[in-house]
Amino acid sequence: ETLCNQIAAGEVVERPAAVVKELAENSLDAQASRLVVSLERGGRSEIRVVDDGVGMDADDALLALERHATSKIASVSDLQAVRTLGFRGEALPSIAAVSRFELVTRERDAVAGTRIRVEGGMIRSVEETGCPPGTAITVRDLFFNVPARRKFLRSVDTEWAHILDLCLRLALARPDVHLQIHHQGRRTHDFARTGSLAERVGQVLGHDTARLLIPVSTEKEDVRVEGLLGPPELQRANTRGIFLFVNNRPVKDRVLQHALLSAYDTLIPKGRYPSSVLFVSVPPDQVDVNVHPTKREVRFRRPSDVVGAVREAVLEALSKGIQ
Ligand code: ADP
Ligand code: MG
Repeated sequence: ETLCNQIAAGEVVERPAAVVKELAENSLDAQASRLVVSLERGGRSEIRVVDDGVGMDADDALLALERHATSKIASVSDLQAVRTLGFRGEALPSIAAVSRFELVTRERDAVAGTRIRVEGGMIRSVEETGCPPGTAITVRDLFFNVPARRKFLRSVDTEWAHILDLCLRLALARPDVHLQIHHQGRRTHDFARTGSLAERVGQVLGHDTARLLIPVSTEKEDVRVEGLLGPPELQRANTRGIFLFVNNRPVKDRVLQHALLSAYDTLIPKGRYPSSVLFVSVPPDQVDVNVHPTKREVRFRRPSDVVGAVREAVLEALSKGIQ
């Protein structure tokens, strides 16, 4: 079992940012409206995710640490219509197999909560505890028991950059969730809940930048394209200002990025990139988001439709926005 979990961990947990992603997605699945992500040393020594979601009772909490026990996939056809973020039921056991792991959780109406400690996949203690409603998971010393993987962890700055990138994408996808980020004991980001994407984009990219962005919102057949496009003069030397989402999930997809960039083609010199936040929505059966558990690629059933719709939407918005 433990070995099995360690192997699975290699698939799910490639670096601290992957742990943050799994924990944060679970919190969002649990209807959290507030998420606090705290890190020590770029997540290498400690990752802590605290939510105010529905929490778990003691039985569910133990079950959650058993591999595959909670997989929501009942049949192969379900794979094609994954709507919730979590679906594999192996993230928590995988993470707990390669760290010193602590889960503290309480359901809103329960009189007491549960604290479970796991070390390298071995359950060390299960106890009742007083705690606020919701779930707090702490992951310390990632890969402490897998030296071969620990070696591949990069510098604190690099791991922190990956986590921050992920958190900013989550923040953009969920303006309705209050997101706080702490690193090395310092609060680095605090995005208050808001009803509006524009406001959240302002919080994330800075309000001066956000004011310059050009709104896009179109629907063509099955493809909805919404977001905020950077004007050509807001160009930068890398693609870090490009935030792409498919069905509200952050993705890094060459096909989509190319569609976006091709619309800017004559407006921005080669090697320069716009800043843009773009949400593409297609019916769930038109996209496969499960190409790889940790990669953010997607596979569209009809890529040319999506590319066409994105390109057209962006071209139209830009031509209106740049008078
Ligand atoms: P999956 O998300 O694929 O079901 P995970 O291993 O990520 O698998 O989580 C296992 C289960 O533990 C979830 O299905 C959920 O029931 C429960 N769980 C995990 N994290 C939380 C959380 N933050 N709040 C409430 N329940 C949680
Ligand atoms: Mg999950």
